Amino acid sequence: MALIVQKFGGSSVANRDRIFNVARRVIETFDKGNQVVVVVSAQGDTTDELEAKSKEISASPSKREMDVLLSAGEQMSMALLAMAIQELGRSAVSLTGWQAGMQTNSNYSGARIKKIQAERIWKELDSRKIVVVAGFQGINKYDDITTLGRGGSDTSAVALAAALHADVCEIYTDVDGVFTADPRIVPNAKKLDDISYDEMLELASLGANVLHNRSVEMAKKFNVNMVVRSSLNYNEGTYVKEVSKVEEMLVRGVARDNNIARISICEVKDAPGKAFQIFSLLSKKNINVDVILQSIGRAGTKDISFTTALDNLDAALSVLNENLDAIGAKEINHSEDVSKVSIVGAGMVNNPGVATLMFEALYDANINIHMISTSEVKISVLIPKEDSDKAVRAIHDKFNLGK
Ligand code: ASP
Ligand code: MG
Repeated sequence: MALIVQKFGGSSVANRDRIFNVARRVIETFDKGNQVVVVVSAQGDTTDELEAKSKEISASPSKREMDVLLSAGEQMSMALLAMAIQELGRSAVSLTGWQAGMQTNSNYSGARIKKIQAERIWKELDSRKIVVVAGFQGINKYDDITTLGRGGSDTSAVALAAALHADVCEIYTDVDGVFTADPRIVPNAKKLDDISYDEMLELASLGANVLHNRSVEMAKKFNVNMVVRSSLNYNEGTYVKEVSKVEEMLVRGVARDNNIARISICEVKDAPGKAFQIFSLLSKKNINVDVILQSIGRAGTKDISFTTALDNLDAALSVLNENLDAIGAKEINHSEDVSKVSIVGAGMVNNPGVATLMFEALYDANINIHMISTSEVKISVLIPKEDSDKAVRAIHDKFNLGK
């Protein structure tokens, strides 16, 4: 007997038929004698619709109330799935984040899980029930409902798997697993059989919309066996785990992020402490920056450019403009017409040829590179947004990822 955590995303529970499909799959696992804990997301676009409803009332609703509202989506799914399982003749019980003991900090709309007090779950499992838990939500020390940030149900599932020492955490979605690139952009993208935590973490952070990046962080930390697979067929998914065949394949995947903006601060005085000054202003506002580029000083000034998530653009521009004189810069400009395209692979460390190949692919496709950043497991370039599909395809071809 194994303990298995299964997480079903919004598309997998989008309507009546899909819910019964999930119920049957859960029961298959349960009937083999396993203990099953199911984590569900809100149905289809429910979370977006709830967000839209809040906007009808207020342009800037209180974050606490926002979490109360958004958590309702998962609460619907969990009850409907438990009913479907019962309808098929098995015992099931649904639990909210609070009932499941999901304790978080108080950062509404982006809460982090602190610990899981799992007694209730164990009690239900011991009485041979299938336990259905609402993803994405928890409770803080004031007994208020919190949510983990969009896409957070993956993280709920991994956290539960870690706390319960589950044998595996299965993430069910509407695609067959993790691909070498988004199959909607690259038709010959290939499903990966396995991928390491580090590679997956990069892919998730760089815009491959398969897993919430914090779920991968947590899986790595607690060594949770994770598999991403489709709820709509029985194909083998992608295993996310510690090792993978690093040497055989240098580059595992190409990711693209269109949700970013570039900001440039022009003619900053070329003196020590300027970067520190600029980036502390941003970090005080909780604004994460990504690719950073500083030009060589000329005539006593330099330019500093960086990218940030599109959501942070307005906040970043206003704090920088307010402090333009203090920074001692001439002007600030920005662009939203940029896209970040990245290649990821643990095997690319010490392989300078990999970068060259990537740049060659972009040159062949006549795509101009604005900025470049590299780390041990990834190389990212900032390019014009309109070229991003073409870039992903060119790079994917160059590295023969679809072979
Ligand atoms: N329902 C939430 C969202 O759409 C959480 C999730 O789906 O993981 O972001
Ligand atoms: Mg969702």
